[in-house]
Amino acid sequence: MSDNLIRCLAFNKQVRVILVDNTNLIQARCNPLETPKLTKTALAKTLTIASLISGTLKDTQRISLRVAATDQNYQVLAEADAEGNVRGFVSQPFFNLEPDQVENMTLPEFFGERGGIQVIKDLGRYGKMFTGVTKMPYGNIVDDFSYYFEQSEQTSSVFYLSLLFDEQNHITLSRGLFAQVLPGGSEELMQQLIDAVKLSPLFAPETNLAEIFQHGADSIDQVLAIDLEVLSIEPIQFRCNCSKEVLMPLLSSLTAEDIQWYIERQEDIEVACNMCGEKHYIDPHEVTPGT
Ligand SMILES: [Zn+2]
Repeated sequence: MSDNLIRCLAFNKQVRVILVDNTNLIQARCNPLETPKLTKTALAKTLTIASLISGTLKDTQRISLRVAATDQNYQVLAEADAEGNVRGFVSQPFFNLEPDQVENMTLPEFFGERGGIQVIKDLGRYGKMFTGVTKMPYGNIVDDFSYYFEQSEQTSSVFYLSLLFDEQNHITLSRGLFAQVLPGGSEELMQQLIDAVKLSPLFAPETNLAEIFQHGADSIDQVLAIDLEVLSIEPIQFRCNCSKEVLMPLLSSLTAEDIQWYIERQEDIEVACNMCGEKHYIDPHEVTPGT
């Protein structure tokens, strides 16, 4: 099964609905991490929200999300573009958390009362960047992004996610929905939509989301009765454009002495991409010392 993003309209074009099944992407990025379940949950949810937002982007537009805890050292980053490319990672301090430190902690307890989210939308060829920030009144990431979109776009918006774990704390399913009332639409439809989706098999593990949508909206609509129109079904995937060249500027703070240290030990300099966690190794001879 591949990961898919499905764009729809519901209730006779009054509500925009985006659905994603990104289970493969989330499993590949989160399951190998040697971190507590809380960290995997925070990363998975933020990546899924970025995946869903990618369904609202056009052309060269990009979105970048940052979720920061009250202790700002703990940050979750995610980015997406209009082509369904998604990337993201957690800040380094997450890897120093002891499992028993957060074992029984909920996301709201972890993010605390002064957590915040930042959204940067790059309009690409339209040439503008919009930055929005908000508090996290819910602290669970998902409802906080619903809150953010309600505030910033002045329209009824809701994210609904399903993230399932097995007993070994491995993720077994990741799906999400993002819905927004379009101009002139009725806000009451949002609750009706969520209620219908919760009762439907769309988020059941045995359901192949893309397959049922490929069979046409009619069969789904018989279950949901929300007057559904499918606009597109597109793949979605993890992609980071990091390389040694892209990461080189991160080494600009190294002094000639630092670089000499690596040269004497005949060691490459390890530098990790903060958007995907991949480690790159750079020959110290290629590095110009900072001033
Ligand atoms: Zn990367």
